[in-house]
Parts: sequence; structure tokens; C-alpha cells
Amino acid sequence: MAGDMVVVRKEGLYCVPGGFYIDPWRPVERAVITHGHGDHARVGHGHYLAAEPGVGILRSRLGDITVQGMAYGETVEHNGVRISLHPAGHVLGSAQVRMECGGEVWVASGDYKVEADATCAPFEPVQCHAFITESTFGLPIYRWEPQQQTFDDINAWWRKNVAEGRASLLLCYAFGKAQRILSGLDPSIGPIICHGSVEPLNRVYRAAGVALPPTQMVSDVDKADLKKAIVIAPPSAGGSPWARRFGDFSDAFASGWMLLRGARRRRGVDRGFVLSDHADWPGLMSAIKATGAEKIVVTHGSIPTMVRWLCQNGYDAKGFDTEYGDDEAEDAAAAGAAAEGVAATEPDVDPVAKRWAVKDKAEAAREAGTAAAQKDGGDDA
Ligand SMILES: [Zn+2]
Ligand SMILES: [Zn+2]
Repeated sequence: MAGDMVVVRKEGLYCVPGGFYIDPWRPVERAVITHGHGDHARVGHGHYLAAEPGVGILRSRLGDITVQGMAYGETVEHNGVRISLHPAGHVLGSAQVRMECGGEVWVASGDYKVEADATCAPFEPVQCHAFITESTFGLPIYRWEPQQQTFDDINAWWRKNVAEGRASLLLCYAFGKAQRILSGLDPSIGPIICHGSVEPLNRVYRAAGVALPPTQMVSDVDKADLKKAIVIAPPSAGGSPWARRFGDFSDAFASGWMLLRGARRRRGVDRGFVLSDHADWPGLMSAIKATGAEKIVVTHGSIPTMVRWLCQNGYDAKGFDTEYGDDEAEDAAAAGAAAEGVAATEPDVDPVAKRWAVKDKAEAAREAGTAAAQKDGGDDA
């Protein structure tokens, strides 16, 4: 094939021979969606194609859309491109998009995580010639502990709060992160309360066959029992009037960014738990290697660092500027603002500043007619 099978257009990542988009950020006729996070799955497209386990999520978040679900590994052909979806291990229904045309194979990863967890199908390496990878945590400093360590830490914190007579308020992203945390909680410690924005997603997970411990709405729990409860709520609930009903409570925040001391301090919460639904640096590197691809395209995150490292290690690598955000950074920003009443774009909120910088560069590149221009230098970290 002459030229790249997938390019960046103003609407989003575009499969040239297939005539469809992957996670487009502007309305298009045909969109293959890797997963239901808001920056990847937007309203307004004509036809959606997504992995079957994610269809319920898309409907609950986007309303009445025309969506076709595909089982992982199933193949459809569109304009001569064979399309199949493969687990990305990020959230329920998350998928990598495999595209085959004229003997060439491209895979677009969306967001992914290589450590398996109990709430979604585990990441599956897919052999390809070109791999489009995210780079949210694409710096060598990002290395996660095994998730069980974090679950143990969360349960120990909850137990200690019960012993000291106060509720435990754990802030995290409502879709994906919340359910993964629920799967690791020890329900013998006390009641588990979920915020109204988390519970509908729990229902979708349970309907998809994911086992979660029993959860309740705050109105269902006796006032006297609130101080034994752990409360799972989105970052925006931190410091809100909604949280005040728990009286004396300890609060915590769960995100990959909690690895950074500055990010922890900024949250203004008692505890930071490091837990990410994205691959850490070793995870990104092992995933890239496992594809066997020589050509790597890096999207949202630490593009310059990853591209430089990959080129130094013999890959044909470049970056794509996209309009994907960072679910975890948005969480962190919201929590920071809620907890401290500060602007979310304060200088050393690294991920957030980076996110907008990337967006501005994308804007500039589009104006210059070089949307797929490779970026260089200017390390963010
Ligand atoms: Zn995501
Ligand atoms: Zn993403």
C-alpha cells in the first residue's frame, strides 16, 4: 500500500482504504469506537462499531445511537478492509482495532493496560506491521505496583477509618476505575456506598457478567452505619455539599498520577492510591514489542519521549496529534479544583498542562495543514 493506512484528519484518525474513522472527535458517518471514555466516544456519528461488551456502556453514556456490536476476534469487511476488535484491558468493552488490507495489518490500540483485572477482558497482543499506541504514562518513571498491593492498601485504610469512627471517601473516575476498585474491596469491612454517577455503570458491568460486591446508594444506609462505609464517588464530589453528609471522613484519590508527589499534594486529600487503567512504561514497551510491528505511531501522552526512545531502539516511529484527553488527568484536575478551590491549570499540574499544550499544538498543526506532523523535543516532564 502506498502511504499510511491510517492518517489524522481534522475529524480524527482515519482509515484511508476503509473510509471510516477510529474514535473521531468530530461527527462522521462511520466510527469505530475503542471504548466509552468521553474523549474517545462522542455523540453525533452516523454509525458506531464497537466491541459487544462495550455496547451497553456506549448506550448508557451516549443515549440512542446506531451501534453495531462485534465479539472480540470476529471479522467484518468494509471497503476491502478486514476489521476485527481485540481486548485492550483498559475498561469494560475496550478494544484494539485491527485493520487488514492488501496483506498489510495496522492496529490502533485506543487506551490499554497490560495487567489483567477482574472487570474486563485482558489485553491481547495482536501481530501487525504498524501499531498505533497511546502514551499517557509514556515516561520511564511510571511503574505500577501489582494492583493487589493497591487494593490491600485501600482496604487497610478503610479498616483503619472504621476503627477510628469515620467514613472513607474514595474519589476516582466513575467509569472503569470505580468498578475496578469495587472488585478489589473487602465487603466484610463495612457497607459500600456508590455515588449516583457510579451506580448506573455498576449495573452495566453486572449485566455484562462482571462480579462486583454489593453496593448501596447513600439513602439506603442507616445514618449510624455511614461511618463504617467506604464511599466511591467521582472527583467532583470531593469537597461538595454531597460529601458533607458523611460528617467526619477521610478522603483519598485513586489515579496513576498519584505517583507524583506534586499531584498528591494538589489533591488536598488524606491519601493517594496509585492505580491506573493505562499501561506503565514497562507495559507500553512490552506491548509494543509483542506486536512485532516495526512502524509505531504514538498518540496522546508523552509523544516526543516515546518517539525518540523508539527511534533510538530501531523502530520507525512518529507521533500523531489527536484530541484525546486524559481521563485520569481530568479526574485529577477536577479533584484538585474541588478540594482546594484552585484553577485546574496551575503550572505544576503536569498532566493537565501537558494535555492543553498538546491540544494547542494539534490546533496549530491543523492550521498549518500538517495535522500528522511529527513533534520533536520539548519534553513535558
Ligand atoms: Zn480511556
Ligand atoms: Zn485515551
